[in-house]
Amino acid sequence: MLYQRSSALFSEAEQVIPGGVNSPVRAFKGVGGTPIFAKSAKGAYVYDEDDNRYIDYINSWGPMILGHAYQPVVDAVIERAKLGTSFGMPTEIETKIAELAIAMVPNIDKIRFVNSGTEACMSAVRLARGFTGKDKIIKFAGCYHGHSDAFLIQAGSGAVTFGSPNSPGVTQGTAKDTLLAIYNNLESVKALIEANPNEIACIILEPVAGNMGCIPPRDNFLQKLRNLCDAHDILLIFDEVMTGFRLAKGGAQELFNVKADLVCFGKVIGGGLPVGAFAARNEIMNHLSPLGPVYQAGTLSGNPLAMAAGLAMLNDLNNDSKIFERLAEKTRYLHEGCSKVLQNNKVTHTINRLGSMISIHFAKDEVVDFTSSAKGNNDTFKTFFHGMLNEGIYIAPSAFETWFLCDALTYNDLDETIKAVDKVAASL
Ligand SMILES: *Cc1c(COP(=O)(O)O)cnc(C)c1O
Repeated sequence: MLYQRSSALFSEAEQVIPGGVNSPVRAFKGVGGTPIFAKSAKGAYVYDEDDNRYIDYINSWGPMILGHAYQPVVDAVIERAKLGTSFGMPTEIETKIAELAIAMVPNIDKIRFVNSGTEACMSAVRLARGFTGKDKIIKFAGCYHGHSDAFLIQAGSGAVTFGSPNSPGVTQGTAKDTLLAIYNNLESVKALIEANPNEIACIILEPVAGNMGCIPPRDNFLQKLRNLCDAHDILLIFDEVMTGFRLAKGGAQELFNVKADLVCFGKVIGGGLPVGAFAARNEIMNHLSPLGPVYQAGTLSGNPLAMAAGLAMLNDLNNDSKIFERLAEKTRYLHEGCSKVLQNNKVTHTINRLGSMISIHFAKDEVVDFTSSAKGNNDTFKTFFHGMLNEGIYIAPSAFETWFLCDALTYNDLDETIKAVDKVAASL
């Protein structure tokens, strides 16, 4: 494939935008080469500026679960824009999407909308600290909760791909309040709680990790965390920015039947526009400004265009009783097909999958936490990534990312993908 125009656009962008991108993982630093620039997308396909077509497994890193340029979302945004794009006053549509989200997700009474997943997680932790009167938080190595200071301690994909797990600019003071546990390892959590009695406000995690590849919780990990939190007056925060409205209507809480105290959303909830949200039961949410003392605000929060996109998306997810099954079935099919051709080509690999999230690791052992994920062969991944790109399959340019399937994918697309994996595997 030719990438002339993308290369030229990237050179131009580099002059005026750090690294030529507005979010680091787009830059292809982890895989080498220069990023392709998107021109347009429809359904399961994205087209670049050189008019190459790709079957897209990034889907804007999750939001486009029903495919690109999904008509009901596009229509909702266009109609809404004609009425004015922002007011700084409350609008009815904010209540409508709040009502729907609360109806879909278990254990939440109120929801506050923000502009990104980062904001959602940052605000949820502030609220947890304000509510409990405690300062420390526990997060897990390899889990990503956005780029706010408290979370940039072993933060998964983006940060890891760039070899700066702990970003300069995060102060010692902030870092000391973030305690680091090991995913799927309850003992590591217990040890932190014992070493910091009555100091921990919350445990935050991706209920299914997606930023170190896809790593499902094992051995009732989520329920065991719930029990620990109950025993020690700690709030449990599910960061469902990736899993929310993707694994089930009610996200991981519904899928695993485990209650979180606070839940963070992003990605799907905005239908491709910049939206995040956090939610909890009344007792907790009433601590938030203007009802309570914990401050949180946003000029463009609840923006009507973003709410219109999110509402159209959630409505269709809510009304389609088979959507999550259908996505899971397509993902299972892809998993099986990829396993087979990788085996045939004698490529050492491990595939993790849950619902419509899947990741291929070039590692021989099970991938259950950050350390096992990091053992994957990155050189093999680089070759694999560029090979797939050349075959017209767009996967995330990082070995630490999950592939996201969208409902617009046909079984022909999946077969084409498996064929590409076979061809590329032969060259590894
Ligand atoms: C993407 C992501 C975030 C950050 O969301 P942004 O909208 O990029 O700020 C937080 N948590 C998880 C689990 C994510 O996948």
